[in-house]
Amino acid sequence: MISASKALSLLRRLLKRGGVSHAQWMLTRRCNYRCRGCNVWGDQEESELSTDEVFRGLDILRDLGVIEIVFSGGNPLLREDIGEILDYASERFITTVYDNGSLAVHKMDALRNVDFVAISLDTLDEKKNDYLKGVNGAWKAAMNAVEKLKAEGIPVGVSPTISQVNLYEIIDFTKYFADRNVPVWYCLYWYDYPFKDGMFSIGKRNSEYEIIDRKELARVCTAIMDLKRQYDNIYITDKALEAVKELALTGRRLWRCKALTDFLVVDHKGRVAGCHSREPVASIFELPAVWRSRRFKELRRKYSECTNCAYLCYIFYSLHAGLLGSLGIIKEQWRNMKHYVENVRSSSIPNRRS
Ligand code: SF4
Ligand code: SF4
Repeated sequence: MISASKALSLLRRLLKRGGVSHAQWMLTRRCNYRCRGCNVWGDQEESELSTDEVFRGLDILRDLGVIEIVFSGGNPLLREDIGEILDYASERFITTVYDNGSLAVHKMDALRNVDFVAISLDTLDEKKNDYLKGVNGAWKAAMNAVEKLKAEGIPVGVSPTISQVNLYEIIDFTKYFADRNVPVWYCLYWYDYPFKDGMFSIGKRNSEYEIIDRKELARVCTAIMDLKRQYDNIYITDKALEAVKELALTGRRLWRCKALTDFLVVDHKGRVAGCHSREPVASIFELPAVWRSRRFKELRRKYSECTNCAYLCYIFYSLHAGLLGSLGIIKEQWRNMKHYVENVRSSSIPNRRS
């Protein structure tokens, strides 16, 4: 929950000029799933920062102006100290953590203070979901996690990755969860283009996932915008949907990439990059010293011209960069989040607007 002191601190950072607003931290490169569109499980690694090092890193991010942090991996809930990390982060940032649905029910105490738990789930078709995740029982585990967390009053939602595999189902999927007062937060399938020195390879090229029906993707964007008029729990802005729609129909980008300007990523070893598929440019502990350097200025310029990916989170942060961008997110999304948190903490009232 957002306390008054946290809200004040976030506001101060929001008004700070030259800071970075969003951070994604891949806390571990370990994972217990085998998703077909992901490179992580085939290339796992044990080495990770210690708890204290993560705390130090979080303080640095706060001082640089970060207001929102997303923990992913691998599966971040595999870390023994995840409860301590999430508690520490939740006092300082708007905090989201990802789970593939397998561990959240076993780590509920660790999740009590976060602002949002995103459970990855791609389809309502059990067999298809298990096939995509490479694990039998993944669908049941994810559905169970959503139900149990919600019953415990933990703000939980589902996070489908939109791809060719579920493109024609995504509207029904959204309605199913929105009708049950479960927020939906989308990802868009993409793969890491092959370039040397990328920091943290995630997106695996898989022709099954690549969206070939671009007109349908545009139609889905329009339909989601329409659904947002009916439901309070669809966590994407119209601006981001318009950008994806334009990209699908014309290939034109309505944004310039803000990697290392308004967002950055940190990996399991504490390395920092503009985005996960770019080269590491510093350790998190060096960040205060290099953030305003000429080298970083040049990197920002280079990334702003890059058109190599269309990961939805990066599109979103780029479109909503700076104070005005953050206010735009708050205007559209905060009301939804507040409404949801109030509902989930008190009851399970269906969330369709009257
Ligand atoms: S997509 Fe997530 S859950 Fe699936 S293998 Fe990759 S890191 Fe693990
Ligand atoms: S467009 Fe931005 S986020 Fe995507 S690969 Fe290039 S620098 Fe990274």
